[in-house]
Amino acid sequence: MDTKEWKVTEAPTCPHCKAVMEQMDSRYLDWDSPYLWVCYNNDCTLFKKGWNHMMESVGQLVSYRFMIHPQDGQAGVIPAFSPDYLKKNGKPANPNYADE
Ligand SMILES: [Zn+2]
Repeated sequence: MDTKEWKVTEAPTCPHCKAVMEQMDSRYLDWDSPYLWVCYNNDCTLFKKGWNHMMESVGQLVSYRFMIHPQDGQAGVIPAFSPDYLKKNGKPANPNYADE
C-alpha cells in the first residue's frame, strides 16, 4: 500500500495525555485503512472521562479512546470495546473503580 500521501505515518502523541499512540489493526473495520493510531493509555483523560459521559448519555458502561486516522490526519474516537477486551474481562469494568 502506498502511504506516501498519508498525513500521519509516524506515531503521534495523544493531545489528551501526551502518550505515544499505537497502531490498531483496522483491516476488518470500516475505516478504509489497515490501521488507526489509537491512544491505549488507560490514564488518558479522554478515556477516563468517557466512562462517565457515556453512562450519562446512553446509560452504558463503555468508553472511547482517542484516535487519529493515518490517511487524512483526522482525529476522532473509537469505542473502547473490542472482542479482545470482552474475552479477557467477560463484562465491562469501570477503570475508575478497578482494583489496583
Ligand atoms: Zn490519550
